[in-house]
Amino acid sequence: MPEKAKIHYIHPVPEPKPAEEYDPFFEATMQFEKAANFLDLDPWIYQRLKYPERELTVHFPITMDDGRVEVFSGFRVQHSTVRGPAKGGIRFSPNASLSECKALATWMTWKCAVLDLPFGGGKGAVICDPLRMSENELRKLTKEYTLAIRDIIGPYKDVPAPDMFTNAQTMAWIADAYSQACGYLEPAVVTGKPVHLGGSQGRAMATGLGLYFVLEEALKYLGMNLQGRTVAILGFGNVGSSIAKLVHKAGCRIIAVTDIFGGIYSEKGIDPFELEKQVKQTGSVVNFPGTEPVDNESLIALDCDILIPAATEGQIHKGKASQVKARIVLEGANGPTTNEADRILVEKGVLVCPDILANAGGVTVSYLEWVQDLQRYFFTEEEVVDKLEKKMKRAFHEVIDIMEKNKLPMREAAYVLAVGRVAESLKALGRAA
Ligand code: NAD
Repeated sequence: MPEKAKIHYIHPVPEPKPAEEYDPFFEATMQFEKAANFLDLDPWIYQRLKYPERELTVHFPITMDDGRVEVFSGFRVQHSTVRGPAKGGIRFSPNASLSECKALATWMTWKCAVLDLPFGGGKGAVICDPLRMSENELRKLTKEYTLAIRDIIGPYKDVPAPDMFTNAQTMAWIADAYSQACGYLEPAVVTGKPVHLGGSQGRAMATGLGLYFVLEEALKYLGMNLQGRTVAILGFGNVGSSIAKLVHKAGCRIIAVTDIFGGIYSEKGIDPFELEKQVKQTGSVVNFPGTEPVDNESLIALDCDILIPAATEGQIHKGKASQVKARIVLEGANGPTTNEADRILVEKGVLVCPDILANAGGVTVSYLEWVQDLQRYFFTEEEVVDKLEKKMKRAFHEVIDIMEKNKLPMREAAYVLAVGRVAESLKALGRAA
């Protein structure tokens, strides 16, 4: 075997985390259990929805640019296909784990159900360090990962989408690897693609826009205006930057933003359009002119009206929650608030707009993209935004109705709506053998 082809480094599959560490699937299960108890689910339905339907772990080699061959590990988890194909993103991260994918897939099931979309929940990840990989390496990694999970994905089985450190280009590579294997272009196998390859108008801003519609309704519910509100945002990627631009245009003052490299603070306000230009050039928000450094922990405790976690899970934890001063926490990220922190926030009277509702704009436009791809017939941006606004606002009010009627926190109300819908479908299908 030539030296070049030798495998001399293997990314280890992480060991299960010790119980005292943050475990996203444990957090997701606790949220489900509250709703399951409230709904008094049949024991078999409870057991069936508690665990994913399928958890796939794959290992595959890639020749890196310097000629070394590395073996990468990845996952694809399908929590539920009861209401339709599994739907959920794929993330590239050194910290990816099976537990994280199980949690994210579970949250996708509930998110699709809150929005009443004909999808279940899935999630995938590859353990890798995308910031240290070339485009060529990422392309090969994406295509090999797609081939490794090919048997369980497809337009009617499981439809991936972008997530952290993946984007429209990644989705185009997945569409190509899948299509080459079927022998024709099948755009409906992924969403979040470039528009010229069957992507939807409005997809890039969809999660931000969905957050914005929920924020508008939440403020109306609290009798507050959007104009002049102060906002702090954790994470400035697809989700963080898109909601930042929308609230800035609506007259809010963004006082702090962080990313994986650090953060910035300015009492006078940060222009997200200028910040985005810097991020395109330098890759980070750090050192934006006219700002002071800030870290995630300080950002969470800042005196602001609206706190938007838009990075990763578990960042608002019990050690931080009592210091939150915001009136609204708008969850752009999936699972950003731990159960303990959530309890503290609710006791403090903070309105926590839960991830499974607030950040559902992305999957809602993904649904519209999938519908367009299946028909090979495309909507205008106005049509997409109009449909998104109606779906987000309808879901918001359905959740608020359950919250008010049953005196539940907003997250629990969203779970009651979602788990109730999936349980009803499962029962009607007569799946108990
Ligand atoms: P992205 O890769 O585009 O951006 C992630 C951002 O978070 C980057 O700015 C990154 O630097 C920052 N970040 C990562 N780790 C961080 C840390 N420890 N501290 C501070 N900042 C950190 O990802 P995205 O698509 O914007 O996704 C962000 C979150 O939103 C994830 O939880 C994702 O699951 C969720 N989400 C994304 C979508 C979507 O359509 N992209 C939809 C729904 C939910």
